[in-house]
Amino acid sequence: MKLTRNNALILIACAAAWIFVMIRVANHEPVYEPREIVAAPAEVERYARQQLNDLQRRSFAEQREFCGVIVEDDRGTLSTLEVFEGDIASCSYENSGKVGLKPVATFHTHGGASVVFDDEAPSFQDLQSDIATRLDGYLATPGGRFWRIDWQSQTANLVCGEGCLEQDPNYRPCPASAPETQYDIKRLQARFRNASATC
Ligand SMILES: [Zn+2]
Repeated sequence: MKLTRNNALILIACAAAWIFVMIRVANHEPVYEPREIVAAPAEVERYARQQLNDLQRRSFAEQREFCGVIVEDDRGTLSTLEVFEGDIASCSYENSGKVGLKPVATFHTHGGASVVFDDEAPSFQDLQSDIATRLDGYLATPGGRFWRIDWQSQTANLVCGEGCLEQDPNYRPCPASAPETQYDIKRLQARFRNASATC
């Protein structure tokens, strides 16, 4: 009798857990938990900002993107294992990791000012890539804009505008395509679909 009651309780608990999972799926929430990051979000952002600012001049001079991964140790001390060189419009990083270090965010520059690429906002691929790796991403643009991609809300958010990071001397503002302060995937796709070829 006791055994039967226990079995019933287990079944009820399983059903409750199942309903909980289904409700989360129905609400489009991920069923996995976010990474546990020791460093405070403001500290990660400050680190990313400094890292990107330090890469801006070289990025303009060499007309290429630079990228990498910010990691932390058990105490939340942040560092970058390697800065990767990309080309004019892309950059690939390796996230091979190291024992005792956990990835907390990605970062990349957008190279130098260009009339060909819409590089003052994150690209659709930037957003997709950070969501896929479940890491926030930080971006510096030639105009000196600083963006944060939030993988959980799946949005790109302007942290600070034109000139708040080092700016390419060749950068010329394009008011017609000045970016908004926030994009989700759909709005970012629409921006690139509707981008005008000239400024
Ligand atoms: Zn990008």
